[in-house]
Formats: sequence, structure tokens, C-alpha cells
Amino acid sequence: MVMLRLLIFFGQTAKKAIEEARKKVAEYINCKTEEIYFTSGGSEADNLALFGIAKANKHKGNHIITSKIEHHAILNSCMALEKEGFKVTYLDVDKEGRISLHALRKAITQDTILVSIMFANNEIGTIQDIEEIGKLCRFKGIIFHTDAVQAVGNIQIDVEKMNIDSLSMSAHKFYGPKGVGALYVRKNINFNPIIYGGHQEKDKRAGTENTPGIVGMGKAIELARTNLEKNNKHLQNLRDKTIQRLINEIPDIKINGSMENRLPGNVNFSIKNIDGRTLLLMLEMEGLFLSSGSACTSNKTTPSHVLEAIGQEKDYLSCTLRITFGEQNTIEDIDYILDKLKECITKIKQANST
Ligand SMILES: *Cc1c(COP(=O)(O)O)cnc(C)c1O
Repeated sequence: MVMLRLLIFFGQTAKKAIEEARKKVAEYINCKTEEIYFTSGGSEADNLALFGIAKANKHKGNHIITSKIEHHAILNSCMALEKEGFKVTYLDVDKEGRISLHALRKAITQDTILVSIMFANNEIGTIQDIEEIGKLCRFKGIIFHTDAVQAVGNIQIDVEKMNIDSLSMSAHKFYGPKGVGALYVRKNINFNPIIYGGHQEKDKRAGTENTPGIVGMGKAIELARTNLEKNNKHLQNLRDKTIQRLINEIPDIKINGSMENRLPGNVNFSIKNIDGRTLLLMLEMEGLFLSSGSACTSNKTTPSHVLEAIGQEKDYLSCTLRITFGEQNTIEDIDYILDKLKECITKIKQANST
């Protein structure tokens, strides 16, 4: 009896903790708590949105619109849906990485049931005009999903004001634990589960909840929301100073992405005729961990689909690097980055010319 009572007590405490986290997640994007479904991360949330919404709305049409620069969680889900008979339009982007509203409007047909456009790009940091996309989709009666994994924690989001019907997020992208995320789906929208089993998450996502992950996610999103303005000012300052110095001090450099519509902590650049992998390794030895804009496989480098979509010039394709600033970075870090970058580039150029 005592054991049973204890179990019930712990069960209720866990349930309460999950519901408190759900409330915090809902507050960040201004939706109702019952519109949040916890998942194992951003990828699962994207899969649940695309497969779930497409399949539940198949009777209305079979056309989906997305963009060429989406994360692979979206792109590969769309390709899998194509194999199941759905038609997918992959919209082009301009050289800053933005889709055109005009092109979106033109791509919409009688059969379009879903538009999925990412809020902010994970490589080049470009932010889309989500409010206008939402307005257009609402006007046309089409469900609008946005992969907001890069945006949640960095950008203020209001799903009501922005007419967003479905939105995915991932805790580890805003200093929360890995392996937990969430999908928001507007109340009146039908979607099927992709994982079947018990009745968790209102029958939309079976399986015992990742309670510690969810609680951690709730705390992380609460902190992100409280400190949003302060952190953004700091990150934007680091970003803009870095970009300015890169342009001024590094020859043959190109900043990728948009200058006006850009994630606060994102810097992405390409340098002409430099081997990016060599530069990356040299920087790593100096304690600088940048990420490369290429998928490296053994001794072949293929440029990312994002760089391809923004039409990156050939001479610049071999060297694209991304710096992501975090809360803990300081203005002094920029001096170190610039010094080391200049040093390494000089060494590479010297080696190339001998
Ligand atoms: C990281 C990321 C994802 C995937 O999230 P996981 O939690 O790692 O599965 C999806 N979309 C974007 C834009 C991302 O940056």
C-alpha cells in the first residue's frame, strides 16, 4: 500500500513537471499548452509535422511546397513523401538565402495542402519573412509549418501574429539537453502520429516521456525567454564586429547570407582559393572550432546544398566556414579569431606559392 501510494506520488510529480515545462514552451511561442507535443528532438518534430499533416490531409490534395535550403530533416522527409505519391515543389532562394513570396504564391495550386519553410537557416543564418509567408498561407487556406529549430531561443516568436500552424524546435539548440524537442500544432489541424503505442502526448507521440529531458527543456526555454534581449544584443555585437573585421582585414572574402535578416550569433564566410579543410584543421590546433560548409567524405568535399542554392561562386566553394557565437563569448575572442585566421591563411598561401 505504501509502495503504491509512493508510486502514485512520484507519477504525479513527474506529470506535473512535464506540464510545467509544456507551459513554458507554449509561452515562448504564444500558443496554448495543449498545442505542444514533446518529441525526441528537432528531426522527429519535423518528421511528425510533415508526415503527420500530409497523411491526415491527403483527401484535400497531395502537393507540398518547401525550399531548397531546408535542413535534411525536412528535405529527406519530403523526398520520402514523394515516394509515397506526394508532389513536392522545392523553391529557389536568392543569393542571401531568402525565398520569394511571389514565387511561393505562384507555386500554390488547388492541390497544395502544406507549406514548410524554415524560420532561420542553420548554415548561413538567414531569417525568412515568416510573418508574410504565414499571412499568404492563411489567406489561401494552406497549412504552414516552420522548422524553427534555429530560431527558438534566438528570436521572439508569436505563432498567432505570424499565422504559424505548426512549428518544430529542439532543446539542445538553446542550451537545453540533447535528445528532446517539441512540435507545436494549431488546435484545429489534423495530423497523424508517426509513432504508435500508448496514449502519451494525446495519442500523437506514443512512448514513455523523457521526463528529465522535458524538464530541462522547460528550464532552458524559460531562461532563453528571460534573457532574449540581453543575449541578442551581445551576440549581434560580436557578430557585426566580426563581420566588419573579416571584410576589412581578410582579402578575397565573402560573407554568406543576409546582413539585415540574420541570426544574432551567426557568421558565415567563404575565402577564395583556399582549402577549407586545411584551414579548419589549423584553426582547430589553435583551439578554434569552426564548422565547415561542406560535407567532407574521405578526400572529397562536396559543397552544402545551401551554398549551392545561393549560387556560391566556384572559386569560393572550397572554403566556407561558420562561426557560431554563444553567450559566453567575449569581444576579446574576436581579436583571437582574427589573429589566428590571418596567421593560418598566410601560412596556407605561402605553402601554395612554393
Ligand atoms: C539542428 C537542426 C535540426 C535537427 O534537430 P535535432 O534535435 O538535432 O534532431 C532541424 N532543423 C534545423 C534547422 C536544425 O538546425
